[in-house]
Amino acid sequence: MKTKLFILSVFISAFGFSQEVYTKTLKLMGSRFDISVVASDSIDGHKYITSAIDEITRIENLISSWDSKSQTSLINNSAGITPVKVDLELFQLIERALKISKLTDGAFDISYASMDKIWKFDGSMTTMPSEEAIKKSVEKVGYENIILDAANQTVFLKLKGMKIGFGAIGKGYAADKAKALLINQGVSAGIINASGDLNTWGTQPNGKDWMVAIVNPLNKEKVFSWMPVKNSAVVTSGNYEKYIRFNNILYTHIIDPRTGYPATGILSVTIFTQNAELADALATSVFVMGEEAGLDFINQLKGVECIIVNKDNKIVSSSQIELQNKE
Ligand code: ADP
Ligand code: MG
Repeated sequence: MKTKLFILSVFISAFGFSQEVYTKTLKLMGSRFDISVVASDSIDGHKYITSAIDEITRIENLISSWDSKSQTSLINNSAGITPVKVDLELFQLIERALKISKLTDGAFDISYASMDKIWKFDGSMTTMPSEEAIKKSVEKVGYENIILDAANQTVFLKLKGMKIGFGAIGKGYAADKAKALLINQGVSAGIINASGDLNTWGTQPNGKDWMVAIVNPLNKEKVFSWMPVKNSAVVTSGNYEKYIRFNNILYTHIIDPRTGYPATGILSVTIFTQNAELADALATSVFVMGEEAGLDFINQLKGVECIIVNKDNKIVSSSQIELQNKE
């Protein structure tokens, strides 16, 4: 399981309040999920948590590319052959992913999934892959070749061997859907935390905002800054444990789908915005864009903020963020 840069700290003070926080930690979508709800007793709390788990499992079954029977696998197996009719939910998720690809000029691309895995970040790679191999690795990648037909609700991948995958937005989407479901059931507050991709609503039982900590990626015990979150999502992308250096350049595990080269210069990206799906996609995008272009991009988006920890382990942020307790 990947290490994430967030510690979620939940201060629970039950005295004087009839409401409490109930939390369950489990593995869903191949990742650790911490589902927290505020409820008046444990029976209610666990009932709500169970319905969130059911919702996340439902989404996993729809978007998983490991499950050979999922609609996503059906799309992938029909690449270059035939369009596949899918549920409206999946169709619209792909539609939104394509919008982000256009917005980010292809830095974000769900067809990254067909990339040949020529980079290894486990220490086993001693020389850089050849330029030819790098170029060839992205041959089948390109969101322009994902063809949506709204009238027939079909998805067609134009090239044989093309594949799509939701690794960079699936957890965010699941967090949004679980949150929406619980709000619908009348749950006043909670946090759906998918390994550091999280969405929140309401407040702690003592009326205070939920707090998240931005931690030092190189020393997770050290908090760079505490941030309150109000009815919004916080998503972190980046795994500083997986990288490789060639000629003093640090290459990370997130690969630019346009070039086949790993992103460089960033250890982690955290995005703050209303919904976790968008935050998740933008975190991956900023990683690929790099510090300067990434910050510039985020500063142009209304309601989206970002914190980057760069390769020098320095923390930089978008224009509207005020960092507290910065070291
Ligand atoms: P994490 O897995 O740490 O949450 P991300 O949200 O950035 O980090 O997701 C990384 C995953 O997204 C990769 O493991 C891969 O499945 C997928 N991915 C990698 N690069 C891209 C990209 N450029 N566009 C879309 N998806 C990507
Ligand atoms: Mg992401």
